[in-house]
Amino acid sequence: MAKKLPDGLHIDTLAVRAAVDKSQFGENSEALYLTSSFVQPDAATAARRFANEEEGYIYSRFTNPTVTSMEQRLAAMEGTEACIGTSSGMAAILLMCMGLLKSGDHVICSQSVFGSTIKLIAGEFGKFGVESTFVSQTDVAQWQAAVKPNTKLLFAETPTNPLTEVCDVRALADIAHAAGALLAVDNCFCSPALSRPVEMGADLIIHSGTKYLDGQGRVIAGAICGPKKLIDDKFVPVMRSAGMTLSAFNAWIVLKGLETLSIRMQAQSANALALATWLEVQPQVARVHYPGLASHPQHALAMRQQTINGQGGGGAVLSFDIKSTDVQDARRKSFHVIDCTQVMSITANLGDTKTTITHPATTSHGRLTEAQRQAAGIGQGLIRVAVGLEFIDDLKADLQRGLDSLT
Ligand SMILES: *Cc1c(COP(=O)(O)O)cnc(C)c1O
Repeated sequence: MAKKLPDGLHIDTLAVRAAVDKSQFGENSEALYLTSSFVQPDAATAARRFANEEEGYIYSRFTNPTVTSMEQRLAAMEGTEACIGTSSGMAAILLMCMGLLKSGDHVICSQSVFGSTIKLIAGEFGKFGVESTFVSQTDVAQWQAAVKPNTKLLFAETPTNPLTEVCDVRALADIAHAAGALLAVDNCFCSPALSRPVEMGADLIIHSGTKYLDGQGRVIAGAICGPKKLIDDKFVPVMRSAGMTLSAFNAWIVLKGLETLSIRMQAQSANALALATWLEVQPQVARVHYPGLASHPQHALAMRQQTINGQGGGGAVLSFDIKSTDVQDARRKSFHVIDCTQVMSITANLGDTKTTITHPATTSHGRLTEAQRQAAGIGQGLIRVAVGLEFIDDLKADLQRGLDSLT
């Protein structure tokens, strides 16, 4: 029989140990239950399980033991009572909004969150009569000023993509709670290995498991972590009827990814700091955006909110501006630096052990107008690097090749 884990275990221990009980075979690595339904011992048990009067697996759109293991492990690491896995990070935000909001409710959201999040909240939920206000990532007074009597949810993400702006989670939690609203934080960039927003007052944590939780760029997955009552009452029923379910296979990949999350975040954060520090002194580079640098405008706040083993960690995403004379020159030079890489992958994903490099102005932020991009600080000379696990000197050389050959 499975041993019961003692209380008070460290996140690194929970990352490899928290899961559902082992099967009758006593497998050491958690099993993958690829089954759409579960056989019921008799009709009366089936009836009780369908009526929620007895625990037990029924059908994998509702629950699956592999998904439950992933949920238990991620909840343990985030320090929340419960977690519900979803088919993607966007599905987690969809499930959260469907569970919490109705027509006439109001959401306050950072204007710097993931682009699809803005489209989902303003566009799709706007169609159903949910109001939204988008405010500065860093100016707490704007969040306070946006509060209305019908405000139900504040939504933030920290640090942001690609400029790594940091928001003050504690201050936003205080504003939300004074307004009788909830604060949800998209913790995709930090992961629980670097930051646990519930310890700073956040109510709900959103994850794209696609990023650091898998960590090796294999699957699309997501999750919401939070209080058990909220998840049971607000999200489980929506999941059962709407079906944005995490597949057992993808859950298993994320479950295994979580085992190395902490050690990957430490190594990738250290690599990112070394690369950012090096980029900052390159003559062709105008500016580096990375929370781990003393030059970052919210460096002190970031180091308070993001810690690994007691030390501040900047995370693994950075961006930098190439020096240029005008918009065309900026784009030409950025494309050159990107095209000169031979190790880094030109792809929009992040959170992978493989370093990725992108030109945000023509990819992730390509649908904005030039004026909107300028306002957001995402110029044609900006390059984003999501730093992986390659040896640091190889990464420097990969960027140096393009920087040194700029004309
Ligand atoms: C990628 C991402 C999402 C969406 O996740 P998917 O798994 O791609 O749906 C949400 N938030 C942030 C911060 C992300 O980087």
